[in-house]
Amino acid sequence: MTFTKKHKRSRGLKPDSRRPAKELCSECGLCDTFYIHYVKEACAFLHQQIPQLEEQTHGRSRNLEQPDDLYFGVHQDMVAARKTEPIAGAQWTGIVSSIAIAMLNQGLVEGVVCVQNTADDRFQPMPVIARTPEEVLAARVNKPTLSPNLSVLEQVEQSGMKRLLVIGVGCQIQALRSVEQALGLEKLYVLGTPCVDNVTRAGLQKFLETTSRSPDTVVHYEFMQDFRVHFKHEDGSVETVPFFGLKTNQLKDVFAPSCLSCFDYVNSLADLVVGYMGAPFGWQWLVVRNDTGREMLNLVQDQLETQPVTSQGDRHNAVQQSIPAYDKGVTLPMWAAKLMGVVIEKIGPKGLEYARFSIDSHFTRNYLYVKRNHPEKLAAHVPDFAKKIVEQYQLPD
Ligand code: FAD
Ligand code: SF4
Ligand code: SF4
Repeated sequence: MTFTKKHKRSRGLKPDSRRPAKELCSECGLCDTFYIHYVKEACAFLHQQIPQLEEQTHGRSRNLEQPDDLYFGVHQDMVAARKTEPIAGAQWTGIVSSIAIAMLNQGLVEGVVCVQNTADDRFQPMPVIARTPEEVLAARVNKPTLSPNLSVLEQVEQSGMKRLLVIGVGCQIQALRSVEQALGLEKLYVLGTPCVDNVTRAGLQKFLETTSRSPDTVVHYEFMQDFRVHFKHEDGSVETVPFFGLKTNQLKDVFAPSCLSCFDYVNSLADLVVGYMGAPFGWQWLVVRNDTGREMLNLVQDQLETQPVTSQGDRHNAVQQSIPAYDKGVTLPMWAAKLMGVVIEKIGPKGLEYARFSIDSHFTRNYLYVKRNHPEKLAAHVPDFAKKIVEQYQLPD
């Protein structure tokens, strides 16, 4: 793609011509800016180009013959870590917020693209360019909904900023990397989180109402490595619901079509990824993809305790068995779901094998979704690494 200032001409687009990805749009925010001019090339749902962008960003694409590369993308290092003094109210221990604050404090960047919430709704995302540690802290904790993070990109150019950190999920980062050279930056840092099963704000409400005993008081939730959803409530209490007890029949329609068609769970194009699913319970999982990611992690190393990543168990049977169960929308009675949760927690996959379990379960489900709903897109939209992962399993028609 060649980049010129002609992107400014797209300001005149009518609203109804926006979101060319239509129902697959994940509302990444690019189409709210004049960079919509690049949408056909940049949108993750119109033009899958993860290998090319890996090459551009990391100097090589992932090696499909190398098992960790295949699953977790290009990386120099993986480690489990947690802050010795966690940030109160962060999603996990606040490693993401701490890195962003350190980068601002040390003058490595002038601004941080992150997402706060609106004044009247803790889960309604409000993307901002934070310029102070306080503004970064105000963005801590997941807004577990589609968030137009890239909608603030125009402000970057208008402000004259030259050094920027962007925090975001895979679909946002793919579009960002595609237009990176048009942003006129001296240096772009990208801090990613893994992401899966995202929802619209209305979808989130349905999920909370279907699954939690008290939907209105939930301040935070996570699908944890112990095969339970953990809901934290306003009064500090924690409610857990086993994955196998989720009302799959009602929840099938909750996830956004974009997220049912997404294969960038591990945020392949970020410099550094901070999640949890490859780490022991209570720890965060860090994937350093390149030298820039290493530089970012080094800034907070003295705030962390770390341990090597490990892997235990065999996911294959559990994944294979969950494919028809999800497909048919089977919901177990709660007593059976709890029992299954306890058994699988004791003998099931742990560490990196848990991460592979989650990747396999979501890629097989999403492959079926694209095959059934957008068969014309299947060949080009599903990256080769995802096809190779899915091929391990027998799928229904
Ligand atoms: P904090 O310091 O609390 O900072 C969180 C950061 O996330 C903030 O800077 C904020 O800007 C950003 N953010 C919040 N909501 C959004 C959003 N909707 N879009 C983009 N950025 C946002 N990790 C896994 O290992 N497996 C998963 O399946 C998984 N699913 C996720 C799904 C979603 C929708 C999101 C946003 C994250 C997911 N993560 C997942 C990442 C994980 O939940 C934590 O966000 C991550 O470990 C960082 O925790 P922290 O305490 O360091 O973050
Ligand atoms: Fe535009 Fe982003 Fe939606 Fe694609 S996903 S149509 S780039 S807003
Ligand atoms: Fe984007 Fe994929 Fe996350 Fe959906 S699951 S918000 S498409 S990264």
